[in-house]
Amino acid sequence: MEDKTLSHGLWAKTAPALPPFNSIEGEYKTDVAIIGGGYTGLSAALHLAEDGTDALLIEAKEIGFGGAGRNVGLVNAGLWLMPSDVIARLGNELGERLISILGASPDLVYSLIEKHTIQCEAIRNGTLHCAHSPGGYNALKQREAQWQDRGAPVSLLNSEEAAPLIGSKAFFGALLDKRAGTVQPLAYAYGLAKAAHDAGARIHVNSPVISINRDHNCWNLKTPKGNVLAKAVILAVQGYADYAFKELEKNLIPFNYFQFATQPLPEKVRNTILPGKQGAWDTALILSSYRLDQAGRLIVGSVGQVENMAYSLHKKWAQRSIATVFPQIKNISIEHGWHGRIAMTNDHIPRFHILGPDFVSVTSYNGRGIGPGTVFGKLMANYLKEGSKAIIPLPLTKPKKVFMRGLRGLFYEAGARIYHLAQHQINGFNQNKI
Ligand SMILES: Cc1cc2nc3c(=O)[nH]c(=O)nc-3n(C[C@H](O)[C@H](O)[C@H](O)COP(=O)(O)OP(=O)(O)OC[C@H]3O[C@@H](n4cnc5c(N)ncnc54)[C@H](O)[C@@H]3O)c2cc1C
Repeated sequence: MEDKTLSHGLWAKTAPALPPFNSIEGEYKTDVAIIGGGYTGLSAALHLAEDGTDALLIEAKEIGFGGAGRNVGLVNAGLWLMPSDVIARLGNELGERLISILGASPDLVYSLIEKHTIQCEAIRNGTLHCAHSPGGYNALKQREAQWQDRGAPVSLLNSEEAAPLIGSKAFFGALLDKRAGTVQPLAYAYGLAKAAHDAGARIHVNSPVISINRDHNCWNLKTPKGNVLAKAVILAVQGYADYAFKELEKNLIPFNYFQFATQPLPEKVRNTILPGKQGAWDTALILSSYRLDQAGRLIVGSVGQVENMAYSLHKKWAQRSIATVFPQIKNISIEHGWHGRIAMTNDHIPRFHILGPDFVSVTSYNGRGIGPGTVFGKLMANYLKEGSKAIIPLPLTKPKKVFMRGLRGLFYEAGARIYHLAQHQINGFNQNKI
């Protein structure tokens, strides 16, 4: 039976149970209040608590309600931008630090998974960035050279070498990045929450922060049924900024991404598709992603949201995409469909904001949040402890509205629909290759 709950889709079905957390009722005091129960907030809470700091996390809805519970689960090394683009935007010193810290971010993710025995279908066999065109292959060559210059274990495979790893002849080659891997994203968030709780952090859900004010050298965070007095605040709400922080949406470009999961693949074809269990995505402007879950379902994603009529449009595209890329399962049925909102910036660089005395925020990982969220949560915890700007590999800024953000969001959405429809007209993509 097809599940059309649209929020967390497959991930909500297969994540292990999380112990229930209470909401905020009455008045609480803490050294550090953390707003947002995704990777950033949970990692901050965990690292603060492990360091002996009193930390209290407040989530508007449920743990993993935002991007953390909806994403593809690719634990990527580095940002979506090529290293040279990061340097062009941030300069040599800051750029190289950001590249190096985020390039190593999967190490932190997998070490936490191991240390806290987080059950999240974790696999670290690398990822495959697949060339959808000869131009895409050339761009991957540049990526390979830039990462190899920095000592990263990445290697470009030609189409013959890549085909058996992907299980498809539809691509012109692929960049294998051995630093990376995949997780069940919501289960990873649950595991961080449990680890933070076990380390002593207080976690509260169903408690949106509806206002925040400075009172007697202290931050006063109001929720519908209580309030929290905090010496310092970490804001970690990304693309799901809401209630007191709704205005922050204006600093981001909204970018929706959907996924459809098939039934578990039949045994006889399972080993023909991504047999090494690498997560994969392609170089197209309207990109597509492909990965398996632990039960052997194929999860296909691309740009767009799947509410109302868009559900069937994008689902049909997903079915055609599967038939084109993996013809061995062309009639497989789809069981889950959902989408989420990615926080993007103009220049694809995340932002680190100082919002007031001991009030910091990080946002906009531009679709790369599992590693960066885990790392920046830890960095913010250290920043509040040490007060040293030097540990943050980003400029310290104030939020700034994005010009015509709504229009840009619509442009992505409309572009994705036209692209997915156009592929219908030509009956599949990579026609030349196949
Ligand atoms: C569809 C999709 C696919 C993606 N694929 C990948 C991928 O494969 N790999 C990867 O690395 N990244 C991916 N990302 C990006 C990644 O999911 C995000 O960058 C990451 O979730 C950000 O983590 P976070 O903790 O900063 O924010 P979030 O996970 O978005 O959490 C923010 C939380 O803040 C809460 N909140 C908001 N307002 C308030 C308030 N007023 N009071 C209290 N709480 C509040 C929200 O309810 C939410 O739970 C993807 C994102 C999406 C949406």
